[in-house]
Amino acid sequence: MSDPARVAGRRGVIGRYFEHLPVSELTPVVTLDEGDTPLLRSERLSMETGAEVWLKYEGLNPTGSFKDRGMTLAISKALEAESQAVVCASTGNTSASAAAYAARAGVRCGVLIPSGKVALGKLAQALVHGARVVEIEGNFDRALALTQELAANHPVTLVNSVNPFRIQGQKTAAFEIVEALGRAPNMHLMPVGNAGNITSYWLGYREATQLGWADSTPRMFGFQAEGAAPIVRGHPVDEPETVATAIRIGNPASWDGAVAAARDSAGAIEAVTDDDIIAAYHSLAREGIFVELASAASIAGLRKLHQEGAVEPGSMVVCVLTGHGLKDPDTAMRAETPLARVDAEVTAILRAMDLG
Ligand SMILES: *Cc1c(COP(=O)(O)O)cnc(C)c1O
Repeated sequence: MSDPARVAGRRGVIGRYFEHLPVSELTPVVTLDEGDTPLLRSERLSMETGAEVWLKYEGLNPTGSFKDRGMTLAISKALEAESQAVVCASTGNTSASAAAYAARAGVRCGVLIPSGKVALGKLAQALVHGARVVEIEGNFDRALALTQELAANHPVTLVNSVNPFRIQGQKTAAFEIVEALGRAPNMHLMPVGNAGNITSYWLGYREATQLGWADSTPRMFGFQAEGAAPIVRGHPVDEPETVATAIRIGNPASWDGAVAAARDSAGAIEAVTDDDIIAAYHSLAREGIFVELASAASIAGLRKLHQEGAVEPGSMVVCVLTGHGLKDPDTAMRAETPLARVDAEVTAILRAMDLG
C-alpha cells in the first residue's frame, strides 16, 4: 500500500536520504529531482594513471552543477521557516541553482555577483528564473561579505554554503558514490573554491562508515587554481585570478572544513595551473564529457598526483566533475577551430570534414 505523495517524495536527494538529513514530515520539500548523477568509468584516465578512475558527473544535476544538492535542502528549510526571500553571492552556479529552487518554491531570490566574471549560461539561468541579479565592482569574497551583512540585518535567508543545510544536502553525493561502488574509493579528488563541497563530501564519507555502508573513508584531495590558492599558500589571496571562475575565490568560507578533510584523511589541498586545467578540460571533452573549467581541476589534480607517484596502481579513484560545460559556451568556442564554410556540394563538404 503506497501513498503516491510519499513515493513521489522519494525522489531527489531529500526523498532518497530523508532519514540522514535534518528534515521532518513537516518540511515542505522543494525539489527538481536533483542527485542520482552518473558515476562514469574513465578508460583513458585509468590507462593513463594505472588506477581505476571514476568520474562523478555532477554537471547532470537539474541546473547543471552540484549546487542543486544543497539548494534543495536550503530552500526547503527556508520555506519551512516561512522565509519570503533568499539571497546569495555567487561566481555563477549558486545563483543559477538558488534562482531555480526559489522559483520552484515561489519565494523571491536576490543575487550578488562579481562584475564581468560570471559565465554567460549561469547568468542566463539566474535571470530566466526571475532572480534579481546585482553586479558589484569587487570579487566573490567581497560579494559574500556584503550578502552576509545584508542577511544578518534583514528578513532574508542566506543560501551560500555558509548555510549549514547546503553542506548537509551536498554530502549525499558521497553516499551515492559509496552506493554505486559498494565501498568508498581509496582517493577522492575535487576542485576547491569556497570549500563547502569538500567539507560536505568528507562529512558524507564519514557518515557512510558510521552507517555501515563502507568500511573505510578515502584520502581527500582538493585542488585550487594556482592564482586562487589561499589554502595552499596559507593566507587569503586579495586578487584571486584564474580562468576557472567557479573557483576564483581568495578567502574560502569553509577553509577549516577543507583543511580538516585533507588532514584527517591523510590527503592534501594542492594547486594546479590554469594551463593544466585547460588541458584537462579538453581531454575530458574528447572523451565525450563536457565540463566547465573549474571541474577540470579534479583531472589536472589527478595528473599531478600521478606524476608525483602518489597514485597507487590498481587503486580506486573518484574525481568529481562539478559543473556542466554548457554553462560557459564562450570558453568552449574560443578554444576550438572555427567552422568551415564551403559550397553546398558533396566533394567540398567531405574535404572540409577531413573525410575525403
Ligand atoms: C561552486 C563550484 C565549485 C567550488 O565548490 P566549493 O564548494 O565552493 O569549494 C567548483 N566547481 C563548480 C562548477 C562550482 O559551481
